[in-house]
Amino acid sequence: MPEADSQTRTKPAVLILLGPPGAGKGTQARMLEDKFGLVQLSTGDLLRAAVNAGTDAGKRAKAAMDAGELVSDEIVLEILKDRMQDPDVARGVILDGFPRTTGQAQALDALLEGQGMSIGAAISIEVEDDAMVRRVSGRYTCATCGEGYHDEFKQPAVAGVCDKCGGTEFTRRADDNAETVAARLSAYHAQTAPLIAYYDKRGVLSRVDGMGSITAIAEELGAIVDKVTA
Ligand code: AMP
Repeated sequence: MPEADSQTRTKPAVLILLGPPGAGKGTQARMLEDKFGLVQLSTGDLLRAAVNAGTDAGKRAKAAMDAGELVSDEIVLEILKDRMQDPDVARGVILDGFPRTTGQAQALDALLEGQGMSIGAAISIEVEDDAMVRRVSGRYTCATCGEGYHDEFKQPAVAGVCDKCGGTEFTRRADDNAETVAARLSAYHAQTAPLIAYYDKRGVLSRVDGMGSITAIAEELGAIVDKVTA
């Protein structure tokens, strides 16, 4: 259950988490979701669901995802716009892995304006490239509830049993292998990192050291959310 009731906040927050693969965006987004009752919107999750469901968008996205390249803005926006119509979005959202290009950032501005929302904070989780391959290649998730784990950094308290839901099935992403991670990192540097300057100019950028512990980063992010939703 969320600790903070969204009714007590004055504005719905729109938070953007920026950072390369393995920076911890998904882990942190889920923690913020639990703590503040916000809705995590991960375009990676939405795309993987579309691929698994065999939708037209999923079929068009698959090759780029397998190669560690960015899916076209057109497909990503189609999927995100659909999800943004759901009523829970009015509680406030944490965008995890979106926007990833300047075109997506501009489309997001227009989309939010149409929904009477605006960006509260864009948070860049800053990490060293060298650590990323190790981080990404050790991660796996509970197949039942999606809780994230890592071979080295975050194992369940009881081996093979999810801390959160008791599930015993776990999955690893097909694109979490060294070769694809390298492609994903270069896509990040070429196409997504410029968004740090984009949001800095807009006065909504915060930078967080992503090499700290999961709880230390969560505290910093929580303080930012408190500030933008006060
Ligand atoms: P993620 O789960 O965020 O690491 O995304 C996994 C893959 O989905 C990426 O490597 C891209 O192929 C694709 N993807 C996710 N979000 C986006 C986005 N906003 N723009 C383009 N491609 C994306």
